[in-house]
Amino acid sequence: MLYQTVYILLRDTGRRPLEIAALPHHCLETTHGQTSLIWNNHKRHRHRQRLPITESTAQAIRTWQARRPHLQLPATNDAYLFPALSSYSSASHLNANYISETLRAWVDSLPALHAEGVDAHGRPLPFDRTLIYPYAFRHSYAQRHADAGTPVDVLRELMDHRSIAMTQRYYQVSLKRKRAAVATLSTHVVDRLGQPAPSTTTSYELRSVAVPYGGCTEPSNVKAGGASCPIRFQCAGCGFYRPDPSYLPAIEQHINELRADRETAQAMNAATFVITALSDQITAFEQTVTRMKTRLAAMPAHERQEIEHASTLLRRARAASHHTLLPLTTTDPPQSPS
Ligand code: SF4
Repeated sequence: MLYQTVYILLRDTGRRPLEIAALPHHCLETTHGQTSLIWNNHKRHRHRQRLPITESTAQAIRTWQARRPHLQLPATNDAYLFPALSSYSSASHLNANYISETLRAWVDSLPALHAEGVDAHGRPLPFDRTLIYPYAFRHSYAQRHADAGTPVDVLRELMDHRSIAMTQRYYQVSLKRKRAAVATLSTHVVDRLGQPAPSTTTSYELRSVAVPYGGCTEPSNVKAGGASCPIRFQCAGCGFYRPDPSYLPAIEQHINELRADRETAQAMNAATFVITALSDQITAFEQTVTRMKTRLAAMPAHERQEIEHASTLLRRARAASHHTLLPLTTTDPPQSPS
């Protein structure tokens, strides 16, 4: 169970092998319902960093913490989640080299590991097992975030990188691949009701701008690069709203946020029009999502795969190029007294 938990943490948190091996025994902290992993960045000497983790990752740690007291361990190793298994070890925590060796032995023992695609005879291609080593999980973690559209500055924080250039490597999409992705998705654009509103690749690129939950075709906002919405980003009810499938995760996340806002508004006994406006937005976005998903589900698998691939590329390109625009009201800075 020790190595199983190590594997889950490598996979889910993207920390370096030594950072996992040397996690403190009490490495969970829950604030306002969000659980964080407390970890130490040994490379940069930054201690007690906090990383938000999912409930399933936290539960894997709790399960191991409950199992740990039943092991016969040197008493001096109690400070670590993964203790050294003998008092002869140079460090009091698990040796990071043991993680590499155990992972290698496990990967080599797996009967079959398949890569994407098939050979000329339709047989699955074998996955290159040498690509699986502890540090590779850190790269995969970063790449998953970049592909999902996590903004580059947020990912830099998550990775605790010294420079943003290091984080930007995960967002690289060539112009040629981006163009191809735009061409794929331009024929799957919908309007605010989720009805098809396809456009040519050129007009999709030139006459729309990416806003948080889809493309916007309102001319003055396009001219302003998406920063000048005349109706405060009420996209769900706007005739200029043009989402495509690459925005599905952002729309679904926004629906969850709107539901949370509605609950808060209800708890605050807010006026009915506030609750109604939130409910109407939720319903409108839900309709868009349902229609897009229904259309995707009806497509042949290869076409759906092509759209998913193009969506991943565009999310990554968008996340690298700009911050999510928020519907905030701007105010003039206070004047200093003369
Ligand atoms: S509400 Fe959305 S789609 Fe409409 S103009 Fe504003 S940003 Fe564009």
